[in-house]
Amino acid sequence: MSRIHLLSEEVASQVAAGEVVERPASVVKELVENSLDAGAKHIEVMMRRGGISLIRVVDDGSGMDRDDALLCLERHATSKIRTGADLASIHTLGFRGEALPSIASVSRFRLSSREPGAVAGTEILVTGGRVEYVRDGGDAPGTQIEVRSLFFNLPARRKFLRTENTEASHVEAQLRLQALGHPEVGFTLLTDDRTVFQLPPAANLRERIRDLNGGALADALLEIPEAVFDGLAIRGYIGKPGVTRSTRAQQLVFVNGRAVENLTINHGLREGYHTALMKGQYPVTFLFIEMDPAAVDVNVHPAKREVRFREPSVIREALVEVVARALEGDRADWQGAFAAPAERLPVRPEPPRPEPLPLPGMAVEELPPPRLPAGLTRFPEPFPEVRVPSTFKDFSEFKEPPLSPVTVTSAPEVPAAPRGPEPLAVPEPKPQPQQFRILGVLGRLYILMESAGGLVLVDQHAAHERILFEELRRRMEQVGVPSQRLLMPLTLQLAPRDSDWVAQNLPTLQKMGIGVEGFGTGTWKLDAIPQFVQSSEPQQLLHDIIDELREISSQTSKLRLGEDVIAKTVCRHAVKAHDTLREPEMIRLIEDLLQCELPYCCPHGRPTMIQISYTELEKKFGRKA
Ligand code: ADP
Ligand code: MG
Repeated sequence: MSRIHLLSEEVASQVAAGEVVERPASVVKELVENSLDAGAKHIEVMMRRGGISLIRVVDDGSGMDRDDALLCLERHATSKIRTGADLASIHTLGFRGEALPSIASVSRFRLSSREPGAVAGTEILVTGGRVEYVRDGGDAPGTQIEVRSLFFNLPARRKFLRTENTEASHVEAQLRLQALGHPEVGFTLLTDDRTVFQLPPAANLRERIRDLNGGALADALLEIPEAVFDGLAIRGYIGKPGVTRSTRAQQLVFVNGRAVENLTINHGLREGYHTALMKGQYPVTFLFIEMDPAAVDVNVHPAKREVRFREPSVIREALVEVVARALEGDRADWQGAFAAPAERLPVRPEPPRPEPLPLPGMAVEELPPPRLPAGLTRFPEPFPEVRVPSTFKDFSEFKEPPLSPVTVTSAPEVPAAPRGPEPLAVPEPKPQPQQFRILGVLGRLYILMESAGGLVLVDQHAAHERILFEELRRRMEQVGVPSQRLLMPLTLQLAPRDSDWVAQNLPTLQKMGIGVEGFGTGTWKLDAIPQFVQSSEPQQLLHDIIDELREISSQTSKLRLGEDVIAKTVCRHAVKAHDTLREPEMIRLIEDLLQCELPYCCPHGRPTMIQISYTELEKKFGRKA
């Protein structure tokens, strides 16, 4: 007896729906994509009870005539492609001709559509895939689709839905994504008759980001002016260093207007941020990649979120470049803040110091002394005003020795490490127009400075790590890092995989001043470490390096990731600078920091400097709205 039979159209649609329609948010995605493909200028989405009881999408796009309105409910009916060849070059968001019949097969579905200029529109009601009626409709030009009682006929699916609030937040996230992808289109979201957002068509992406996410996020972004590469163009915004999230939720990348997820993109961004991104953190991006549709395959998954690139390496390298360039630009901005002309500092007239208010019954002298932070026996001396040269170039005169005395100070356990021929004294800076004024030190860690833009706080240790890191990289490229011999060489037994990492990176390790030698079968001898590393834990250093290399091994990369990982780890093991810096040392630290390629964050991505602008201060003190 034969056991195979063809599924009815109805059941086949329900099966297909399983792939496309997972939850209310996927319905919204499909319907809004259709509206965008239809050239809508405004799209309104309304939902009740998280979209489970009702989703309504209204657009002012091209609309459909009666024939098309009927045909669009058939499976594999689409106006967007014709031939197999068209599949190789998709210009629209949709193309599968599956969404509407799938949605209509698992809901009570009403479609009303009218072409602009047509005398009447068409209204169709479908329940669980069965057409109930077709009649003339009188709605405004465009298309309205209502989806009620989602999964009413698929109880198993319905059970998988989460709470109404959760579903509503997925819908909202989906619509925000579409709104960011299409700033020129107006979007409205209503839930249970409450307006969640109402976005007028925006002049540009920045305006849309501001409307959706507020000014604070918009101000924390760097612009990527359109950059053209071989076969693709990239533009948009990325978060400044330190503006990160612990998930990829804000890492938005659109390829030809479609929000996509793709490993190559993830790697490109991470590599571009490089040491400006902390481990376990993800960048905030609003990036638009425009490319030949033939070079990207969107027909990977029914939800069309995943894409494949014909030449992933081109995308990755382009991303690395634009991100690195934008961060570089940010650095120039910071320098601008310091390099302001002399007459701009102090920016505003120094307010007259108010006389201390005579408090009734308490003379000012009798005020209790300020409390000292824990572990401090006295407040650091106040620092006299410090003048430093006006241009960064001027620092070069006293930029020797290469490893500055601030960054490396001899600690007892380091065998007297010579730092170069010069004595450690720092020449007095020439009196020149000032760019910043050191105000003091907070909590023995943060250097407080006044710049043209406001108050700047520098994390001494983070700054030290950044300077050391870049110095190490420079040294590696040139002569190599001086090392200290261990009195007792160590023998280490490594697992085969770890042994491979060491073998692969042997030249880098040696340039870095780490003396390792292999004896086969995973046995290694460690007999030297970089001069400024605490000699008490040499094997820990090697293990940390191996751990870090293992971590990045999963990421494709052609940048000098291996080298940088090793340098970063070495920095972490470096002897820390004296906690209490004297004022010339502080100037030296700042000046070395400002000469770094990426001065604003340490090699692990933590910020080295934070600026609080006068505008922010004025807002905080209520001087300005
Ligand atoms: P696809 O978008 O993959 O073509 P759909 O099932 O989503 O498949 O839609 C089928 C067709 O219905 C589309 O190709 C389009 O011609 C038409 N259509 C759907 N929604 C709209 C809309 N909002 N405005 C105008 N036409 C639409
Ligand atoms: Mg579609």
